[in-house]
Amino acid sequence: MTIEEVEVLIIGAGPSGSVAAGYLHKNNVKIKVIEKTLFPRIVVGESLIPRVMDHYAEGGLLDALDSQGFEKKFGARFIRGEEICMFDFSNKFGEGWDWTWQIPRAEFDYVGTQELIRKGVDIEFESEVVATAFEGVNSTTTVRMKNGELKQIKAKFLIDASGYGRVLPRLLELDEPSQLSPHSAIFTHVLDVNRPEGVEGTQISFDILQTDVWLWVIPFSNGNTSVGIVGPTAFINSLSDHSDTAEALQKAIQLSEFYINRFGNLPFVFQPKKLTNYSAAVKKMYGEGYTLTGNSSEFLDPVFSSGVCFATESGILSAKLALRQLRGEVIDWEREYSDYMKDGIAVFTTYVKEWYTGNLQTLFFHQPENPDVKRKICAVLAGYVWNQENSFVKKHDRVIRNMAYMINNNKELMDYIKEDNL
Ligand code: FAD
Repeated sequence: MTIEEVEVLIIGAGPSGSVAAGYLHKNNVKIKVIEKTLFPRIVVGESLIPRVMDHYAEGGLLDALDSQGFEKKFGARFIRGEEICMFDFSNKFGEGWDWTWQIPRAEFDYVGTQELIRKGVDIEFESEVVATAFEGVNSTTTVRMKNGELKQIKAKFLIDASGYGRVLPRLLELDEPSQLSPHSAIFTHVLDVNRPEGVEGTQISFDILQTDVWLWVIPFSNGNTSVGIVGPTAFINSLSDHSDTAEALQKAIQLSEFYINRFGNLPFVFQPKKLTNYSAAVKKMYGEGYTLTGNSSEFLDPVFSSGVCFATESGILSAKLALRQLRGEVIDWEREYSDYMKDGIAVFTTYVKEWYTGNLQTLFFHQPENPDVKRKICAVLAGYVWNQENSFVKKHDRVIRNMAYMINNNKELMDYIKEDNL
């Protein structure tokens, strides 16, 4: 069997693996990326949030991605019947990027990997990691190559960025049930021939059909728009008696008064894909000689588009810490990796939970709007969930619930804000 040796082996060339690869390569680390599929490949996760721009910059991919003319995203719109709540990232609390992209991931990830290859990164497509064994920090990973043969790769550090493949959680039995209730989604792209002119046509939107059911609309610069329905698994299953995803998504679109005219009769670009009970969690996010990043570790929910951001945040952080370890530093992986990532995950977990209880929607649609509250929530939606100066980060575990309670009980919102020094 062929045996190769690298310093860092990365499983998966999605957002997480790509930024990690870019960062390590830039720092002269001998790396290899093993990718199961041939890019471009379809994957969900098309609405980004501004924090990812930091990660793509650190991974050296930002300029190549920016040159592609992907649709720019400056905020997000939430629709509930006649009510509209707009977030504009330029009005967020604190520092950070105020724009990002909404992208067909197949092309986006393809451009990222082509740029890595151009820079000299060794990516092996159509090759699958099937086993791995550790001796201290050193690992020997078995890969089934495109021609069916097996080879082994020895590495001093392993980054599992295999996303939904969840390679190490499966091989090391690290999977744990998510604390979120089971939700599912069905999505496709449509040729958006009824797209209105101007901002309305390109506006990314979340149309709330019921408190716990919503439709996503993500227009791309190529003229297609991604449309997806999300809700409790029982609801999603009830949309079609015959498990027909096209029938189910068509029915969901008919439920949207806002979008029925735009998308109601349009053909789907591909047979809608269904993702059932998509939330995932792990017992631990690292071990001796490896980290789990992106969807290979935790995935919460698509509602605030946090998935790619966590993938790139954990990918870049893993790469930085692995580099320091390779250079001889002792890394406190619990504190510097796991605790840090878990702090951010905790904030978004609260927001996801409070979305589905309806409490966050109460805040979003409350009139008159409170600009301070809006700016702070906006910073969270932009992915800046580690800024402890933001009370909507620091007090995430109670601020939304308490404020919704005040609003629902006709208490004066400003009094609460003053009392709690928000
Ligand atoms: P991936 O993008 O999944 O990449 C992992 C790569 O690893 C893949 O290319 C795969 O082929 C490869 N791989 C797998 N197994 C192996 C193996 N054995 N060997 C080698 N390679 C392997 N996120 C957002 O930010 N915005 C959104 O709008 C959004 N919408 C979503 C909607 C739904 C319904 C769901 C379920 C998720 C959504 N997400 C969204 C989440 C997003 O899809 C993921 O968080 C993101 O793709 C994770 O990136 P990643 O790099 O961890 O994994």
